Order: sequence, then C-alpha cells, then structure tokens
Amino acid sequence: MNKEEKISILQDIVRIHSVNGNEAEVASYLQKLLQTHGIEGKLISYSDGRDNLIASFEKGESGKVLGLSGHMDVVAAGNEEAWTHAPFEAVIEGNRLYGRGTTDMKSGLAAMVIAMIELKESGKPFNGAIKLLATVGEEVGELGGEQLTRDGYVDDLDGLIIGEPTNYSLMYTHMGSINYTVVSHGKEAHSSMPEQGYNAIDHLNEFITRINEEMSRIAEMIENPVLGKTIHNVTLISGGNQVNSIPSHAQLQGNIRSIPEFPNDKIIEVLQIIIDELNKETEYKLTLSIDYNKIPVKANPDSSLIHCIQQQFQTPLPLVGAAATTDAAEFTKASNPFDFVVFGPGVVTLPHQVDEYVEIDNYLDMIDKYQSIILSYLA
Ligand SMILES: [Zn+2]
Repeated sequence: MNKEEKISILQDIVRIHSVNGNEAEVASYLQKLLQTHGIEGKLISYSDGRDNLIASFEKGESGKVLGLSGHMDVVAAGNEEAWTHAPFEAVIEGNRLYGRGTTDMKSGLAAMVIAMIELKESGKPFNGAIKLLATVGEEVGELGGEQLTRDGYVDDLDGLIIGEPTNYSLMYTHMGSINYTVVSHGKEAHSSMPEQGYNAIDHLNEFITRINEEMSRIAEMIENPVLGKTIHNVTLISGGNQVNSIPSHAQLQGNIRSIPEFPNDKIIEVLQIIIDELNKETEYKLTLSIDYNKIPVKANPDSSLIHCIQQQFQTPLPLVGAAATTDAAEFTKASNPFDFVVFGPGVVTLPHQVDEYVEIDNYLDMIDKYQSIILSYLA
C-alpha cells in the first residue's frame, strides 16, 4: 500500500464522528477494508450503532496468537471554535495530521489494520495468528474490552499490543481507577431546632475526614516504583435543600487511582469498613456504591513480546507506566495470562486536547514496526 493510501485511510476514520458512540461506522469501514485485502472480520454488537470488530488471519500449523487492539471511540471535541483546524476534517499541515482521535487512537488502530493487510499481501512466512480487537466505549469505561473479555475473545491470546499513544516508549503498567458514590440519609428539621433532625451533610463530612485519613495512610505505607502512590480525591458533592433546613440528603463521589500493590478489592473493603463503622453510630445512614472499577495492570517488562519490540530499535525504548487506564484493565481479567504492552503512534501529552494531532512520520513508521514485531513474535 502506498503512503498516500495509508494517510487517507487514517483521514477517513478520523472524519467519522465516533464520539462516545457510533463506532459501528468505523468498524464496518475497517471490516470492508480488511475484506478487500482478503481478511475476514466479524462485527460484534455492543448496542445500537456500536459494534466491536474482530478480524484475524493465521499461517503455519500451530503457533502463538498475537492480539492487536485499539478503541474506535473518541472523546468530545469540546469547544470546536478553539481548534485551529476543525476536529473532524483531518487536515494535514506539514508532518502533522490534525483531528480528534488522531493521537488517541485512530492512528494506532489504522496502523495495526494496515500492518495486517501488508503482511497478508507480502506473503511473508510466520507461524501463528494475528488477531485484531477493535473496541467500543474505551473512553467511558472500556465497554467493548469488558464485553470481548467476558465473551472469551481474548482467551486464546499469548500476547497483546494495545496501540494507545506512547510515542516510542513501552507502557507495561498502568494504574487502576475506581469511582464511588456515598449517599448520606438524614432527617429534615428547621435549622433553629437541629435536635429534631439528623444532618446528612455533617455525616458525610465525617466520612470525608475518615476516608482522607485512611487513604493518606495507605499512600504513605506503600508505593509502586513506577506508578507512585495510590491517589484518592473526593471530586463531587451535593446536599441540602435550603439554607434554613437541616439537610436530609447529601451525597458525594470520589475517584481513586490504584496500584497493583494495593488492589481495588482491598480499597473497596476500606471504603466499606468506614461506612460500616459510621453506620454503627447514632442515626448515621450512609450507603456506598461502586460505579466504576478498573484494575491496575502490570505486564512482565522482560516478556518475549517486549524483547521482540526492543529488537526493532537500536537503542532500547524506555519502559514506562501511566496513571491513565486502557482496555488492558479489562482484557487482563481473562482467565489465561498473556504478555501485553501498550505501544502506539501519537503524542503522549495530546489525548483529549484541542488541536490533537499525530505526526505522519510516526504513524507510517509504526505500520512498518508493527509488521516486524509480528514477524519476530510469530517467527
Ligand atoms: Zn485511548
């Protein structure tokens, strides 16, 4: 495939508005493209307008299965006026292709698909299978990753590359993320007679004091050498009806970034213990719900997959970790363990920002690099 075609494929998919939905259009575009080149793909519906795409081809008698994965959704463009180039027009200027999703992560996804096509057409020998997993809803909770894992689509993997932007570094670990809600039920009364009611805000405030203390203690106690400490913040709060009433209702939401050394289930236990302790006190009525639960992940930095990637470069790429979560938080829940790494084109600092772009050289180079990595891993 020539350079112009590779660039125009990326432009085509950047122009598809797959903002938190409508991934089906990206999926069927890629399915058709693969089919034109003799690779069959299968759409796996998540919901109306939202399809995941699985496509694979194999060679040789037996061998390993290498997964290539990218998400098809993008985050909203925000204030479009603030963009120098309209976010869904895929404008090229010099070595940069601008648009929402260019870095996060349609360039990674397109590079993987084109790498598969070029390998198919080259007829180069390898032993094993290449399996594309294009997902929906990564940005809002790894919905496709969760679905594909639950339905067994990652059970056969030996290795997995997620093409999120890492710009020539290898991300082998990232933090987990928990969102939780605490609701406090009190009893309304006139503010001149507070003894007749129970102040839901005061009760919630007591929870905040305790959870902050406990999470600081955990952060001080244990630290990951790459990811750092567990992070906790209460980020949303509301309560009360009017200024001269004792509030009967208050609630908050918090976010926690977790590390493998203090995993999500232990954190949830800590939250629940504080809630239970407070509820033993007079008229406290707090309830906890977990809204979002993505585990921290850590791959083996010394895996054969990472070695295969390092072989393609003269100086070894840095091994890094990140606070942001990826589909790996779902894929690694599969019953079989496999090697994985996050490695894709794009500028690490640009995701979700105005004037997001990918460097065209970086994108084109990754198409070649993915092919040599696949050939080495499935040798
Ligand atoms: Zn992403």
